[in-house]
Amino acid sequence: MPANPLVVNVVELVRKPPQRQHVSATAPLEGVVVGDAMVVDGAQAEVELDLESLSDGVVVTGHLSAPFVATCRRCLGPVAGRLDVDVRELYQRHPTTDDAYPFDGEVLDLRPLVREALALELPLAPLCRADCQGLCPTCGANRNESDCGHQPESKDDRWDALDALRDRLVDPQTGESPGPPLGR
Ligand SMILES: [Zn+2]
Ligand SMILES: [Zn+2]
Repeated sequence: MPANPLVVNVVELVRKPPQRQHVSATAPLEGVVVGDAMVVDGAQAEVELDLESLSDGVVVTGHLSAPFVATCRRCLGPVAGRLDVDVRELYQRHPTTDDAYPFDGEVLDLRPLVREALALELPLAPLCRADCQGLCPTCGANRNESDCGHQPESKDDRWDALDALRDRLVDPQTGESPGPPLGR
Protein backbone atom coordinates (compact mmCIF):
# COMPACT_ATOMS: atom_id res chain seq x y z
CA MET A 1 0.00 0.00 0.00
CA PRO A 2 1.10 3.61 -0.54
CA ALA A 3 2.96 5.20 2.35
CA ASN A 4 1.07 8.50 2.37
CA PRO A 5 -1.20 8.52 5.44
CA LEU A 6 -3.89 10.32 3.41
CA VAL A 7 -4.13 7.45 0.94
CA VAL A 8 -6.23 4.91 2.80
CA ASN A 9 -7.02 1.27 2.08
CA VAL A 10 -10.79 0.94 2.37
CA VAL A 11 -11.28 -2.59 1.08
CA GLU A 12 -12.57 -3.81 4.46
CA LEU A 13 -14.58 -0.65 5.05
CA VAL A 14 -16.65 -0.93 1.90
CA ARG A 15 -17.08 -4.70 2.02
CA LYS A 16 -20.08 -4.65 4.36
CA PRO A 17 -21.55 -1.18 4.79
CA PRO A 18 -22.20 0.53 7.05
CA GLN A 19 -18.83 0.47 8.77
CA ARG A 20 -16.57 3.11 10.23
CA GLN A 21 -12.87 3.72 10.07
CA HIS A 22 -10.97 6.57 11.70
CA VAL A 23 -8.02 8.32 10.10
CA SER A 24 -5.76 10.28 12.44
CA ALA A 25 -2.74 11.60 10.59
CA THR A 26 -0.33 14.42 10.00
CA ALA A 27 0.70 14.98 6.43
CA PRO A 28 2.93 17.57 4.79
CA LEU A 29 1.29 19.94 2.31
CA GLU A 30 2.79 22.05 -0.43
CA GLY A 31 1.44 24.49 -2.95
CA VAL A 32 -1.95 25.20 -1.36
CA VAL A 33 -2.16 28.87 -2.40
CA VAL A 34 -5.05 31.28 -2.95
CA GLY A 35 -4.14 34.85 -3.87
CA ASP A 36 -1.76 36.25 -1.27
CA ALA A 37 -2.46 33.49 1.24
CA MET A 38 -1.04 29.99 1.45
CA VAL A 39 -0.75 27.00 3.73
CA VAL A 40 2.82 27.06 5.01
CA ASP A 41 4.80 24.97 2.53
CA GLY A 42 5.87 21.69 4.03
CA ALA A 43 3.84 22.25 7.20
CA GLN A 44 2.09 19.26 8.70
CA ALA A 45 -1.66 19.35 8.26
CA GLU A 46 -3.45 17.71 11.16
CA VAL A 47 -6.16 15.38 9.93
CA GLU A 48 -8.87 13.73 12.05
CA LEU A 49 -11.45 12.09 9.84
CA ASP A 50 -14.16 9.48 10.20
CA LEU A 51 -14.85 7.33 7.17
CA GLU A 52 -18.27 5.70 7.00
CA SER A 53 -19.16 3.33 4.21
CA LEU A 54 -22.53 3.51 2.53
CA SER A 55 -23.93 1.28 -0.15
CA ASP A 56 -22.83 3.77 -2.80
CA GLY A 57 -19.69 5.27 -1.34
CA VAL A 58 -17.92 6.64 1.71
CA VAL A 59 -18.86 9.69 3.78
CA VAL A 60 -15.87 11.52 5.22
CA THR A 61 -16.45 13.81 8.20
CA GLY A 62 -14.05 15.41 10.62
CA HIS A 63 -11.59 18.19 11.19
CA LEU A 64 -8.51 19.60 9.47
CA SER A 65 -5.96 22.05 10.78
CA ALA A 66 -2.87 23.66 9.26
CA PRO A 67 -0.82 26.85 9.65
CA PHE A 68 -1.05 29.56 7.00
CA VAL A 69 0.76 32.73 6.04
CA ALA A 70 -0.49 35.68 4.02
CA THR A 71 0.15 39.29 3.13
CA CYS A 72 -1.98 41.96 4.80
CA ARG A 73 -4.04 43.67 2.12
CA ARG A 74 -3.81 47.04 3.86
CA CYS A 75 -0.19 47.32 5.09
CA LEU A 76 1.45 44.48 3.10
CA GLY A 77 2.85 43.13 6.36
CA PRO A 78 3.01 39.43 7.20
CA VAL A 79 -0.06 37.62 8.45
CA ALA A 80 0.16 34.25 10.15
CA GLY A 81 -2.50 32.07 11.62
CA ARG A 82 -4.07 28.68 11.72
CA LEU A 83 -6.84 27.20 9.60
CA ASP A 84 -9.40 25.01 11.33
CA VAL A 85 -11.96 23.39 9.09
CA ASP A 86 -14.83 21.00 9.69
CA VAL A 87 -15.47 18.84 6.64
CA ARG A 88 -18.19 16.54 5.41
CA GLU A 89 -17.59 15.11 1.95
CA LEU A 90 -18.65 12.15 -0.12
CA TYR A 91 -16.54 9.70 -2.08
CA GLN A 92 -18.31 7.62 -4.72
CA ARG A 93 -17.18 4.93 -7.09
CA HIS A 94 -19.31 6.52 -9.76
CA PRO A 95 -19.86 10.12 -8.65
CA THR A 96 -23.46 11.24 -9.05
CA THR A 97 -22.75 14.88 -8.18
CA ASP A 98 -19.96 17.32 -9.00
CA ASP A 99 -19.26 17.59 -5.28
CA ALA A 100 -18.39 13.92 -4.82
CA TYR A 101 -14.81 12.71 -5.02
CA PRO A 102 -14.18 9.60 -7.05
CA PHE A 103 -12.51 6.48 -5.66
CA ASP A 104 -11.90 3.03 -7.05
CA GLY A 105 -13.54 1.04 -4.25
CA GLU A 106 -10.21 0.00 -2.75
CA VAL A 107 -8.13 3.11 -2.05
CA LEU A 108 -9.45 6.44 -0.82
CA ASP A 109 -7.20 9.41 -1.64
CA LEU A 110 -7.94 12.05 0.97
CA ARG A 111 -5.35 14.48 -0.39
CA PRO A 112 -7.63 16.41 -2.78
CA LEU A 113 -10.26 16.77 -0.02
CA VAL A 114 -7.67 18.09 2.44
CA ARG A 115 -6.13 20.49 -0.09
CA GLU A 116 -9.46 21.87 -1.30
CA ALA A 117 -10.99 22.25 2.15
CA LEU A 118 -7.94 24.14 3.44
CA ALA A 119 -7.69 26.28 0.28
CA LEU A 120 -11.34 27.32 0.69
CA GLU A 121 -10.60 28.38 4.27
CA LEU A 122 -7.67 30.66 3.33
CA PRO A 123 -8.61 34.34 3.82
CA LEU A 124 -9.42 36.16 0.58
CA ALA A 125 -8.70 39.55 2.15
CA PRO A 126 -6.06 38.85 4.81
CA LEU A 127 -5.54 41.45 7.53
CA CYS A 128 -2.66 41.48 10.03
CA ARG A 129 -5.25 42.66 12.55
CA ALA A 130 -8.85 43.79 12.29
CA ASP A 131 -8.02 47.46 12.80
CA CYS A 132 -4.90 47.59 10.60
CA GLN A 133 -4.38 51.25 9.61
CA GLY A 134 -2.64 50.38 6.34
CA LEU A 135 -0.12 52.42 4.41
CA CYS A 136 -0.39 56.18 3.94
CA PRO A 137 -1.41 56.78 0.30
CA THR A 138 0.57 60.03 0.34
CA CYS A 139 3.97 58.97 1.67
CA GLY A 140 3.74 55.18 2.05
CA ALA A 141 4.40 55.18 5.79
CA ASN A 142 3.02 52.23 7.74
CA ARG A 143 0.35 53.96 9.80
CA ASN A 144 0.37 51.14 12.35
CA GLU A 145 3.93 52.12 13.25
CA SER A 146 4.06 55.89 12.91
CA ASP A 147 1.84 58.91 12.40
CA CYS A 148 3.22 60.61 9.32
CA GLY A 149 0.75 63.49 9.77
CA HIS A 150 -1.01 63.06 6.44
CA GLN A 151 -4.79 63.16 6.64
CA PRO A 152 -5.99 61.65 3.35
CA GLU A 153 -9.58 61.46 4.54
CA SER A 154 -9.78 65.10 5.58
CA LYS A 155 -11.98 67.68 3.90
CA ASP A 156 -9.05 69.95 3.02
CA ASP A 157 -7.22 67.24 1.08
CA ARG A 158 -10.30 66.50 -0.95
CA TRP A 159 -10.55 70.14 -1.93
CA ASP A 160 -6.86 70.10 -2.79
CA ALA A 161 -7.50 67.25 -5.21
CA LEU A 162 -10.39 69.11 -6.82
CA ASP A 163 -8.30 72.25 -7.11
CA ALA A 164 -5.50 70.31 -8.76
CA LEU A 165 -7.98 68.91 -11.25
CA ARG A 166 -9.44 72.36 -11.85
CA ASP A 167 -5.99 73.83 -12.47
CA ARG A 168 -5.59 71.43 -15.37
CA LEU A 169 -8.81 72.60 -16.99
CA VAL A 170 -7.13 75.52 -18.72
CA ASP A 171 -9.26 77.41 -21.22
CA PRO A 172 -7.71 76.65 -24.65
CA GLN A 173 -8.61 80.15 -25.96
CA THR A 174 -7.25 82.33 -23.22
CA GLY A 175 -4.84 79.97 -21.50
CA GLU A 176 -6.47 80.88 -18.23
CA SER A 177 -7.78 78.56 -15.61
CA PRO A 178 -11.55 78.76 -15.18
CA GLY A 179 -11.71 80.42 -11.83
CA PRO A 180 -10.61 80.75 -8.25
CA PRO A 181 -9.94 77.69 -6.09
CA LEU A 182 -12.97 75.79 -4.86
CA GLY A 183 -14.20 75.42 -1.36
CA ARG A 184 -12.28 78.14 0.41
ZN1 LIG B 1 -1.86 45.21 8.11
ZN1 LIG C 1 1.93 59.98 4.99
